[in-house]
Amino acid sequence: MHELSMANSIIETVLNEAKKRNAKSVLEVNLVVGKFAMLGTEQLRYCYGLLVKGTPLEKSKLRIEGEEGRVRCEACNFEGPIHLEQEPEYHIMYPTLQCPKCGGTVEMVGGRNCFIKSVKLRA
Ligand SMILES: [Zn+2]
Repeated sequence: MHELSMANSIIETVLNEAKKRNAKSVLEVNLVVGKFAMLGTEQLRYCYGLLVKGTPLEKSKLRIEGEEGRVRCEACNFEGPIHLEQEPEYHIMYPTLQCPKCGGTVEMVGGRNCFIKSVKLRA
C-alpha cells in the first residue's frame, strides 16, 4: 500500500525534525500532495492516524493541501494545469494525458510530489 509507506516516511521525517529541535510533541503537520502523486488523501489520513499512535505525533493535526497537476505539451508548448475526470480513483484507472489545446500527448511536470511543507512543534 503506497499510502502506508508514504505515511510512514512522513512520520519518520517529522520525528527526526522534532528530535533535532528537542520538541516534546508535534501539533501540526502540513502536507502538500500533488494531484499526480497517486496518493489517496483519505487513505493517507487513515494510515497516518494508525501510525502516530504512541508517538509524539499522536495528537497532531494533519493538514493536506492539494497541488494542481501540471503538464507540458511538446507539440504546441502548452504548459498548465490539467483536470482529471476520474480522480481520486485515477491510481486504478490511469487516464490518457492529453493536451487540452491540441490533443497531443503531454508530459507531467508538476503535482507529482508529496512533501512536508511545515510542521508545528511544541517544545
Ligand atoms: Zn498541445
